Amino acid sequence: MQHANVWEETAVPAPAVPALESSAGAQVLVIGAGYLGLSTALHLAQAGHETIVVDAHPPGWGASGRNGGQVIPGLKYDPSELETKFGRERGERLWRFAGATADFVLDLVARHGLACSARRAPWIQGIHSAKAAERARRRVEDWQARGAAVAYLDRAQVAAIVGTDIYVGAFADYRAAAVQPLSYARELARAALTAGAQIYRDAQVLSLRAERGQWCAVTANGAGVRAPTVVIATNAYTDDLVPDLARSIVSLNSLQIATAPLPVALRGTMLSHGETLSDTRRVIRYWRLDDAGRLLMGGRGPYREAESELAWRHLVAHVRRHFPALAAVPITHRWDGRVAVHLDYLPRLHRPHPGMLVAIGCQGRGVAWQSAMGAELARLAGDPAYDPVLPITPVQPIPFHRLKAIGVASTIALWRALDRAGLS
Ligand SMILES: Cc1cc2nc3c(=O)[nH]c(=O)nc-3n(C[C@H](O)[C@H](O)[C@H](O)COP(=O)(O)OP(=O)(O)OC[C@H]3O[C@@H](n4cnc5c(N)ncnc54)[C@H](O)[C@@H]3O)c2cc1C
Repeated sequence: MQHANVWEETAVPAPAVPALESSAGAQVLVIGAGYLGLSTALHLAQAGHETIVVDAHPPGWGASGRNGGQVIPGLKYDPSELETKFGRERGERLWRFAGATADFVLDLVARHGLACSARRAPWIQGIHSAKAAERARRRVEDWQARGAAVAYLDRAQVAAIVGTDIYVGAFADYRAAAVQPLSYARELARAALTAGAQIYRDAQVLSLRAERGQWCAVTANGAGVRAPTVVIATNAYTDDLVPDLARSIVSLNSLQIATAPLPVALRGTMLSHGETLSDTRRVIRYWRLDDAGRLLMGGRGPYREAESELAWRHLVAHVRRHFPALAAVPITHRWDGRVAVHLDYLPRLHRPHPGMLVAIGCQGRGVAWQSAMGAELARLAGDPAYDPVLPITPVQPIPFHRLKAIGVASTIALWRALDRAGLS
């Protein structure tokens, strides 16, 4: 099993993006070239705003090039919960927006001809316990009452789709989609460049300060970028550029493994119509097949960077235990990436200072959400009076954040035990 991201092997070539060698200026500076930063830049450039994107790495290096490619609409809260939490009007706006985020991605793909194996693909949320089944039934009713294409699948129906009978049922969301995630990031970068944005790699921003109505970013090689508006699109890879921001999220490690391409006969036995799957466990597992017929299996990892092969052992065991027909299929790749989580599982939009915008925290569901938020940020950057779909809230550091590393490890152990006991 080599430590390598399998998406790198099948992605479209990376667009030519230079390093930032000298100082530059623009109307908007975007820090971070993942889905959020690239979608923001694309929409800004299309609206005629001079935009510079900088990243410490090439576009798609972060979570955007490492994820499961499951384009899942919605948030972790159901529509009626959002209406209770945010009030009727804001709540409705929020679930309508969230429910349409996969459509947003497919629409971007179609409009810009993004070559990323994008397709409509049902998202199956496998249910691991009777308690989770009750919640899923409520979720189906909640969304169906609002006209959404979702359904509840019973044990036999879900087993027939996913190729194992470990789930008691499933929430099926037919609004979802799938992409080759790294290709999608690279193609978004290409579209943003075509629209007129400038993108620079090897440009880690080390400091950011406000000076006479401009933001001045200085990168590791000493180059600077000045702009009246700055968008922070660093998500789970957020460092100390903006005070307290890194302490407002828990940045968790998510791990994936990939098998060699499955024999054709076996491909027809699981997710054979391109469905993607995540489950309802608190310590979730997610899987899908890629275009070459490899099984990609993902799940939570240790809080710190995963180094030894042992960190991936639970994923290997899962494949071997629940898919005995794959016993002879080698597991060839393992890789990881960071996911930004808020304790209430809701994404955030911040404006910590005038002219600075931040969208952060996707709870492992950022492919669709961050793509759509890019358009919201572009609108807000162009018109500070625009009322975005998410309320703008202050950055709130998590108390005792430094203890979270220990806290997360023990919480994950507790969640695993609850999952196993069917109590979650
Ligand atoms: C293993 C894994 C599996 C996942 N699976 C799914 C899935 O199937 N479906 C789903 O919806 N979501 C999934 N997610 C979550 C999803 O990938 C993310 O929510 C999404 O990609 C976040 O995009 P982003 O643009 O906000 O951040 P990122 O793509 O992480 O981009 C942040 C960028 O900021 C740059 N950066 C940070 N600091 C600086 C600095 N100081 N200067 C310059 N650049 C900087 C980084 O280099 C990085 O490129 C998964 C995540 C992981 C890690």
